[in-house]
Amino acid sequence: MATECLFCKIAAGDIPAELIFEDDQVVAFRDISPQAPVHFLIIPRKHLAGPAEIVEENEALAGHMIRVAGVVAKKEGIDDFRLVFNNGAEAGQTVFHIHLHVLGGRAMTWPPG
Ligand code: AMP
Ligand code: ZN
Repeated sequence: MATECLFCKIAAGDIPAELIFEDDQVVAFRDISPQAPVHFLIIPRKHLAGPAEIVEENEALAGHMIRVAGVVAKKEGIDDFRLVFNNGAEAGQTVFHIHLHVLGGRAMTWPPG
């Protein structure tokens, strides 16, 4: 655990969040500033700064995050959803613990801002 990392603290239960799924590898919780009627984040318990830290030895974790996204989206009652990984500040990343945004419940536009 990275001691000063907000999402490590959420995964450890040291900072409260509205958890909607957890298993041995990942935790899902509602985004504190939702950008859609359904907006939750999936994070691994293990600290990685962002998707650029996914390498061959941990690539199964990325697949697990995507599979859990689908399972939780279904539980949240949405069939259509957008998945977003931001990598780096210029891409909009503000929390440097890898997280998968799952957004749905409204029509999405393209390209994103
Ligand atoms: P990003 O901009 O891709 O790094 O996304 C970080 C996301 O984390 C943003 O959508 C924030 O609203 C969300 N966020 C920040 N702090 C919290 C928190 N304490 N609980 C839930 N979501 C948070
Ligand atoms: Zn972390």
